[in-house]
Amino acid sequence: MTESPHPLLPAATPLLRLDPDLLQIGGVDGRDGLRVQPAGDEVAARLRRLDGRRSERAVRAEWLADGVPGDVVDDLLAGLRSTGLLHDLAAADLLAAEPGPAAVARAGLELPAAVPRAGAGGRWRARRQSAVVVDGATRVGVPLAAVLAASGVGWVHVRDRGATRAGDAVVGGVTAADEGRPRALAAADAVRRASPLTDLRPLPPDRAPDLVVLCRPWAAADPLSAALQQAGTPHLVATVREETGVVGPLVLPGGSGGCLRCADAWRRDDDPAWPRLAAQLAAVEPAASGATITCLLTALTAAVQVLAHLDGGDDPVTVGATLELRPPGILPRLRRWPPHPGCVCHGGGRGATPP
Ligand SMILES: [Zn+2]
Repeated sequence: MTESPHPLLPAATPLLRLDPDLLQIGGVDGRDGLRVQPAGDEVAARLRRLDGRRSERAVRAEWLADGVPGDVVDDLLAGLRSTGLLHDLAAADLLAAEPGPAAVARAGLELPAAVPRAGAGGRWRARRQSAVVVDGATRVGVPLAAVLAASGVGWVHVRDRGATRAGDAVVGGVTAADEGRPRALAAADAVRRASPLTDLRPLPPDRAPDLVVLCRPWAAADPLSAALQQAGTPHLVATVREETGVVGPLVLPGGSGGCLRCADAWRRDDDPAWPRLAAQLAAVEPAASGATITCLLTALTAAVQVLAHLDGGDDPVTVGATLELRPPGILPRLRRWPPHPGCVCHGGGRGATPP
């Protein structure tokens, strides 16, 4: 990165006074902190101005103008970086932020999680420019859409054709008062409550989504998943089947993890009757499913996977695997679904040798 980073010290980082000249920055939650001396109130005030909106060059110039020696400035910034307290934004991240004090306050809380350490600048911009389609305004899909929008995803569209039922209402999703309204409209209202400026419109034909989340319970048998695979659109399953939350697999067409048909083929190997069962499961409008805690934990687990994919970096854990969340403990259990040798997604065919 050749541009000067924009250092951000999150507003929630404690600045604690040990004596009039000794300041402790962070270090109270099991993470590393930094003690600085000499550090009067003016140092604390300067640290609070590290809000990510100015380049390191500008910050340095300001501190030098205040009479702070250059090596002291450099040591302080290096110390903050080495303890992981400082987040380096890229100029592009800031251009991608929404204007206005309310949006800045919201983004200030989301940015540290999106830009977790020095050198990861640009992730926020990637998130802001991403478009996610949530297919199914379910008790998982709507809270998930709201969480994604609140986390900075710039475009979140919830797709559904049904009318809201009493059982669809869930914390963070559609409300009891929405019963009878079109689910897509009720879902859009829920997302708007969480993030007023997010684009909620359907994507135009020339804009492919960066990810589609399939929130209906039996998406593998759905023709939609085959179309996504063909179009090369990444897609993730996030749903509650009966009582069990299921997140994954995250399918990256052309990647290493296999597809939804692979998982379906493994099931068919276990039970030859599976295709007939799956066809019946997918043929009907499923009843609302999942306890509130299961739905919300499933939505949050899915949101972590979506954001990991949008932000870039290593493949999320659900590539080629599902995380299953079963009450009452709801501790996630990882179940692997490797590519099936008979599935066309990996050039396989009938007669290939199972792994
Ligand atoms: Zn496959």
